[in-house]
Amino acid sequence: AQTVCAPLPVLGGDVTVPLVTGGEVAYAALDYAASAPALQRVWDDVAAYAPYYGSVHRGAGYLSQLSTDLFENARLAVARFLDCRETDQLIFTRSTTDSLNLLARALPADCRVFVFETEHHASLLPWPDARVTYLDAPRTPRQAVETLERALADRAPHGPALVCVTGASNVTGELWPVRELAAAAHAHGARIVLDAAQLAPHHPVSVRDLDVDWIAFSGHKLYAPFGSGVLAGRADWLVAAEPYLAGGGASRQVTRRADGSVAVEWHENAARHEAGSPNVIGAYAVASACKALTEAGWDTLVALERHLIRTVREGLAEVPEVRILSLFGDDAPRVGVLSFVVEGWNSSHFAAALSAEYGIGVRDGLFCAHPLVRTLLGADHQAQGTCGAPEAAPGEKSLNAIRVSFGAGTPDEHVERFVSAVR
Ligand code: PMP
Repeated sequence: AQTVCAPLPVLGGDVTVPLVTGGEVAYAALDYAASAPALQRVWDDVAAYAPYYGSVHRGAGYLSQLSTDLFENARLAVARFLDCRETDQLIFTRSTTDSLNLLARALPADCRVFVFETEHHASLLPWPDARVTYLDAPRTPRQAVETLERALADRAPHGPALVCVTGASNVTGELWPVRELAAAAHAHGARIVLDAAQLAPHHPVSVRDLDVDWIAFSGHKLYAPFGSGVLAGRADWLVAAEPYLAGGGASRQVTRRADGSVAVEWHENAARHEAGSPNVIGAYAVASACKALTEAGWDTLVALERHLIRTVREGLAEVPEVRILSLFGDDAPRVGVLSFVVEGWNSSHFAAALSAEYGIGVRDGLFCAHPLVRTLLGADHQAQGTCGAPEAAPGEKSLNAIRVSFGAGTPDEHVERFVSAVR
């Protein structure tokens, strides 16, 4: 295989790990779908800011103003990266999970929610159960759109509705027909939120072009460090909702009433849902990662990733015991995320062997998408644990799968070692 372009330098790129067979090997991080290694460039940007570290918002000092500018400029940079509309609000959160929970708290009173059973638990679970319609796993992108259209048309009464959908599956890596789902939602008077946790790190995203009402993603999957996320989109539901957290920063004015109680006037911009001292460094790091990806160029990054995907697919195709998991077919377009089972192998043992004998870090389990993985495995067993699964007894079907995932920082050697280890 030939490298299409050099991978971007990432943290942990030089770490070696011991092997049970003796000696050491460079660690091959192939678990980007869980958390991608932060870009060295992001780390350097954060370090360059360190001497100017100061309190943010409301501080009168020079460094406070610098921090405030940094935070607000990060907001603008991320909004640009997502190609948001001028009227959209961008709220810094802790993660995709946090972003979707925030939106769930901002639903109008009689809003119905439509969500495919195939979603990550972060998109599946935040919604009030009594208001959710769970849609069966589609087997083609077209079927996804038709299923949604039918469900939306059947809803009664015809009140507000929200569709929540992933852009790229964290299990199969498959791309979902977001633009078509958004059009279907809008045609039926519903709104749509895009879970871009797996899409945004691998693919250019335009809120405007996709015509989604909100988007959510996590910094730690987009080559920034842990601890920050984003919810961006239409302001109206967000401004009408009670603040996600009550506290300083979210309140414009607090007064005592004559009866002794307290009256609060909440902000109507992003600050409404950002109470408390914000994660300035986290926001700055996300903005830095967005800039680094844009500067590297999406054509280059997508070409690099396609090349890696091809290496993995062709390599795994040579192993007859490997079954790749997919909803839309093995050849469906996907990002650098791929799950599989190996006939005759317990997935947990397989993943442990990749680590211990080859220094390769993948993931095994149900990937916080239990209904989807169970559908893909054809297993009717009840999964246990948060992201893991019970072990299959000898001769039983696999109860969990192995996931390999990679991206802008992955050298050829890592995926080549993975393929030869599986072989
Ligand atoms: N949605 C998808 C598609 C994901 O893959 C993940 C993380 N695995 C999440 C949401 C949740 O992200 P976080 O853990 O950063 O909140």
